[in-house]
Amino acid sequence: MNSEDVKAIEALLSKPQKIAIVPHKNPDGDAIGSSLGLWHYLKAKGQEVRVIVPNDYPRFLKWMPGTNEVLNFERDNAAAVEYLNNADICFTLDFNHLGRVGQMTPILEGLKATFIMIDHHQAPDSYAQITYSDAKMSSTSEMVFNFISYMGDVEKISSEIADCLYAGIVTDTGSFKYSSTTSKTHRVVAELIDRGANSFKVQNVIFDTNTPDRLQLLGCALNNMVILEDYNTAYTTLSQEELNAHNYKKGDTEGFVNYSLTLQNIRFAVIFIENKEEGIIKISFRSEGSFSVNEFARNHFHGGGHTNAAGGRSESNMEDTIKYFKALLENYKDQLSK
Ligand code: 5GP
Ligand code: MN
Repeated sequence: MNSEDVKAIEALLSKPQKIAIVPHKNPDGDAIGSSLGLWHYLKAKGQEVRVIVPNDYPRFLKWMPGTNEVLNFERDNAAAVEYLNNADICFTLDFNHLGRVGQMTPILEGLKATFIMIDHHQAPDSYAQITYSDAKMSSTSEMVFNFISYMGDVEKISSEIADCLYAGIVTDTGSFKYSSTTSKTHRVVAELIDRGANSFKVQNVIFDTNTPDRLQLLGCALNNMVILEDYNTAYTTLSQEELNAHNYKKGDTEGFVNYSLTLQNIRFAVIFIENKEEGIIKISFRSEGSFSVNEFARNHFHGGGHTNAAGGRSESNMEDTIKYFKALLENYKDQLSK
């Protein structure tokens, strides 16, 4: 974030404003952690502020302080629309184009508010008056820490803010494992712990509160795994029937795709998850090394993300989606076998 942007935001926040904070649809740990971290910070500065999520998020994120005051656009539609229409400032967090908020897109497109984007995805759109975008960052939560620091307010980071930002960083870095984790990330995390983040508690509640149903669903996904040695690729599937048989709850499949990537020599891992209600197959892509799943998802599955982690969807059925996917691989054989 350059000093002009910092000054512009300081000027905006020097008087009381009505502020909305909006993360992407199907919000993950980074989306919720960065949004609630920023929410606590702006509230402490005396601003009127609300987090508005496009739709619900998983149980393992609902411990975060402030979660009960989040407006859900799907559930609390009238209140969310009214708040948004009267907002002076709209922070958009953890996404790079307005299509990522699903049903909320037309509402955001029509707002008179000043938009401020904080995000770490590649190739951001230019809808925001102020864009703080950096694809090299581990997470939007790390960027919210930087933002608070640019405002000269590191001292104002409470244990609530620290827990939220820690949660966002730990989920988006795979517990500090992915290549996006830098020494700076660790320094930010150290500062958050010094300011009261309870690292053990946060990791425990996110990663160690499985239900038997969820672990058995993981077993099912691993059982369905197919390895395509010629392409150093592994994919797995979950049908709606399999999800139902394990009492699927939102967030239960989070992280499943990563298991296939732990196989030796596998550089490209994919999970296809049927969603009968939306009539789509939701797809998660992961890679190791230079193969860009962001481009793969953008070019073939209406999606996007980062070089090594992306998502997309297909409107065909599972069988046809897999057929299409396998046929595509031939075009990437060289890249995947390097
Ligand atoms: P996941 O596979 O965990 O849902 O998402 C991995 C990454 O890809 C995240 O950064 C997420 O924001 C992004 N992503 C997931 N689904 C989509 C999608 O449908 N479109 C775009 N543009 N990005 C997505
Ligand atoms: Mn993120």
